[in-house]
Amino acid sequence: MSYRFVTIDDRAALLDDDDGWHDLAEVGNGRFGPDPMEALADLGGLREVAATLDPRSASGSLAEARAAGRVGPPVPRPTNCFAVGLNYAAHIEETSVAPPANPLVFTKFPTCLVGPDADVVLESATADWEVELVVVIGVGGRHIPADEVWSRVAGLMVGQDISDRALQFSATPPHFDLGKSRDTYGPTGPALVSVDRVGDPDDLELRCEVNGNVRQHGRSSSMIFDVPFLVAYLSDILTLRTGDLIFTGTPAGVGRVTGDALAPGDVITSTIEGLGTLVNRCV
Ligand code: ZN
Repeated sequence: MSYRFVTIDDRAALLDDDDGWHDLAEVGNGRFGPDPMEALADLGGLREVAATLDPRSASGSLAEARAAGRVGPPVPRPTNCFAVGLNYAAHIEETSVAPPANPLVFTKFPTCLVGPDADVVLESATADWEVELVVVIGVGGRHIPADEVWSRVAGLMVGQDISDRALQFSATPPHFDLGKSRDTYGPTGPALVSVDRVGDPDDLELRCEVNGNVRQHGRSSSMIFDVPFLVAYLSDILTLRTGDLIFTGTPAGVGRVTGDALAPGDVITSTIEGLGTLVNRCV
């Protein structure tokens, strides 16, 4: 049984098939408390509870909760939040660098994470958009074989790796970590969707619009290092923990290349097939 996991008022919740939400502590028969990070340690429990949801007893609709600003990041406090740079061939081409022999991994410090409808608070005139598929680790550990990866992933969600280009390139070599970790520069959501609920998790369409204009449009199948490789690679180096996030890189069309940057009032709309849409206004 699949599930879609969200946070409402920073409490774990599940969506039913009509997009109604159910507080996990209330519907979980004592198996769950309100803490979303604790809930992710019991994926089997999430599946069981999701199978029992009755849309007629929903606490409300996801759309209403989003409009009221009550929906937060599905995974609000991961131990680690990894991101991968230069992972799509067309994006590497547009940035005129050599294709990497190994994944270029950096950190988005978890304090940057916000929900699917959060404002992005611009702190410079050089902020840029990057729609990305975000992988959430379910059953972590070391030395995870690539062919086990999808069965150990808690789910997928949409992410925006908002980047302050001036900050990113203000040091030599560039510091990706800080340049991509300003507060509010990590919108995620709207739901964490179990892998069995999306069609082919290795081939999902991604799209990013700014003020209704399509800026990025690609497919996750054109990643250079795919999800099984990335998880296996990271877990050979360090322990992956339940709830850890991996931003898996962005397709072509970033503002740094086209000479554009985000400005106050801009609305970034980020969509991934089967996962939903983030709508973030810049202020
Ligand atoms: Zn990125």
